[in-house]
Amino acid sequence: MNVLVLGAGQLARMMALAVKPLNINIRAFDVGSGNVVDPLSTSTIFGGLEKGIEFADFITAEFEHIDHQTLATCEASGKLRPNSQAIKIGGDRRLEKDLLIECNVANAKHQIIETKEDFEHALNKLSLPLILKSALAGYDGKGQWRLRDAAQAEEIWPDIKAFFDGGEKNVKHAVVAEQMVPFDREVSLVGVRDSQGNTKVYPLTENHHTNGVLSVSIATQVDERLQAQAKEVFDSIANELNYIGVLAIEFFQIGEQLLVNEIAPRVHNSGHWTQQGADTCQFENHLRAVCDLPLGSTELVRPSAMINILGEDTVPNEILNVASTTLHWYGKSKRTGRKMGHINVSGQSEKELALRLMQLADILPEAAFDELKPYVSAYQTKLD
Ligand code: AMP
Repeated sequence: MNVLVLGAGQLARMMALAVKPLNINIRAFDVGSGNVVDPLSTSTIFGGLEKGIEFADFITAEFEHIDHQTLATCEASGKLRPNSQAIKIGGDRRLEKDLLIECNVANAKHQIIETKEDFEHALNKLSLPLILKSALAGYDGKGQWRLRDAAQAEEIWPDIKAFFDGGEKNVKHAVVAEQMVPFDREVSLVGVRDSQGNTKVYPLTENHHTNGVLSVSIATQVDERLQAQAKEVFDSIANELNYIGVLAIEFFQIGEQLLVNEIAPRVHNSGHWTQQGADTCQFENHLRAVCDLPLGSTELVRPSAMINILGEDTVPNEILNVASTTLHWYGKSKRTGRKMGHINVSGQSEKELALRLMQLADILPEAAFDELKPYVSAYQTKLD
C-alpha cells in the first residue's frame, strides 16, 4: 500500500517508521518546495503533487495549514483521508468554534474579531482576562495576545491590526477572543475513527506547556467518568466530520468538567507516548484507519510519559541508562524552540514512572528543560 502524506515533518517521519512492518510505503509532499520526498532523509523522489497523487493509494496530512487548492486537488482524486473539510477546520479557529457549537460541545466563551468594532463588542460581551488567538496560522502559542485589564486594550489593538496587515493578502484575517479559563490542568484525548464509523480512544493524557508549547505529557489510568466524557466529545466531533484517521482533542479540565480548547485533525504531539505505552501507537492506528485495515487496540500497556526536546540537538547519552527510556530524534537542524525530538519513558506503576521522570530531570540540562524538575516534583507530591 502506498500513502502520500501532505507535509514532510516529524509526524510523516514517525508514520513511515511505524508502518513499514505493515508494508505501507510513505512518501511525503513537502508543501514548501512542492516536491515529493522520502520522509526519513527528506531527499526528493520526484517533483510535483500530481505524481505524488498517482503514486498513492491513499493521501493523508500531518498538519492542517495546507493551502486549499492542494486540498481540493487531493480530494478530487478520491484518496484524501480525513476529508478536506476536517483538515480546514483544524486550520481555522472560526470554523473550529462553529463545529464545537454544532456538536453542542462545551468550550470557552468567545467572540470572533475581524474589525475594531468587533474588538470593542467583544470587550463588552466577555469578561477579562481574555486570550486572543489568531484564527489562521497560529499554533503553539504563536499569534496570541493576553488582555488582563481594560487599560491594555488600546495597546493591543494596533498589534493585532499589524498582524492582520502583515498576513497573507486576499484572506479574511481574524482573531478569536476567548475568556481565560481557570483550569486545573490541561489534558488531551487522541483517538481514531475508521471509514465504517468505529472509534477507539487512548487514555486521556495530562499535558504541561512551557511558553505555550507542549513540554511534557503523562498517560496513566484515568478516572472512568472523565474518560467517558472525553470519549463522548470525541465521538460527536469525529462522527460529525465523518472523520477517518487519528484526531486529537485538547481540553481544559475544571473540576470534573472538560472544556474543549482545540482540535487537531492528525496525529498529535501529546500522543507520542503511545509509541511505547500503548498496544498500538497513534501513527500505526492513523494509517490503519486511512488504509481500511482493522484498528489496533488503544489500551495503555503501562504508565508512560513523553518529554519534548525543544531547540536542542543533543542530550546526555546517560538518559538511556534510565530504565524503559527511548529517544526519538527528528533529524532537523537546530533552531531556538524548535521541536527537535522527544524522550519516552515508562514504569510498571505511576510511582515508578514518576521516579524515572525525576532521574531524567536530574540528567537533562536545566537550562533547556527548566520546567521539567518542578513539574515532575509536583507530580510526585500528588502521588504521595
Ligand atoms: P492554544 O494555541 O489554543 O493551544 O493555546 C496555547 C496555550 O494557551 C494553551 O495550552 C493554554 O495553556 C493557554 N490557553 C489557551 N486558551 C486559553 C483559555 N481560554 N484560558 C486559559 N488558558 C488558555
